[in-house]
Amino acid sequence: AVEVHDVHKWYGTHRVLDGVSLTVRPGEVTVILGPSGSGKSTLLRVINHLEKPEIGHVSVNGELIGVRRHGERLRELSERTILTQRGRIGFVFQNFNLFPHLTVLDNVAAAPVATGKLTKSAAQALARELLGKVGLADKADAYPRQLSGGQQQRVAIARALALRPGVILFDEPTSALDPELVGEVLAVIRDLATSGTTLVIVTHEIGFAREIADRVVFIDAGKIVEQGPPGEVLDNPRHERTRDFLSKVL
Ligand code: ATP
Ligand code: MG
Repeated sequence: AVEVHDVHKWYGTHRVLDGVSLTVRPGEVTVILGPSGSGKSTLLRVINHLEKPEIGHVSVNGELIGVRRHGERLRELSERTILTQRGRIGFVFQNFNLFPHLTVLDNVAAAPVATGKLTKSAAQALARELLGKVGLADKADAYPRQLSGGQQQRVAIARALALRPGVILFDEPTSALDPELVGEVLAVIRDLATSGTTLVIVTHEIGFAREIADRVVFIDAGKIVEQGPPGEVLDNPRHERTRDFLSKVL
């Protein structure tokens, strides 16, 4: 499970997360919705400790992320330990963030080799398997610039899977794509959802959210306004802010 416990985050005097608490159970798919600037990306970045909250903490499968208890206080873990923890939490970015100078195969194989989890040949065998899974077995030797946006994003998903993470975070994985390429990426995410991987997905694809989410969380101005099954939050929202937002994106 992913547990976000009363997280507050400021940038200077700007309060970006204002007491966010959230539980994602193992195998659950949670979709996060909210207006631009509401803190969605920051929340994902707090989950894998790319951002440190001023108050609150996150745990994944019972283990605190980025910090350890020291009496009443929390102390930052070493960079190395944080990197190990981050390896268990996959992250897929809006803009793919592939290594431009590496082939598709090496993009996917890089992390298990760099972290010493697999030998190069074992990592490449795994990478081929994962590329097959996202429908790109034939692109192993291509470079990212030779791929479409949808293909690049599927490589990014394969890369996230290479560390066999228990949880994968997606930050608007289709928002940089041309409309005709969105479907192929959503299909890969749908596969992961049905295979029981724990997913947290920030997306504006409401139809997709309705289809795959176990839970939808609507966040505004750094606060969770409401959360629940898609049939409640999307089809029968209780709060005016949620209704207003949905009327603009639907
Ligand atoms: P979008 O839908 O546009 O991606 P978001 O909900 O993901 O928005 P965040 O990126 O989490 O929003 O940003 C929340 C707020 O925090 C915004 O007002 C943003 O300007 C601010 N912010 C984000 N990162 C930083 C930073 N590194 N330094 C200062 N302010 C930041
Ligand atoms: Mg964002």
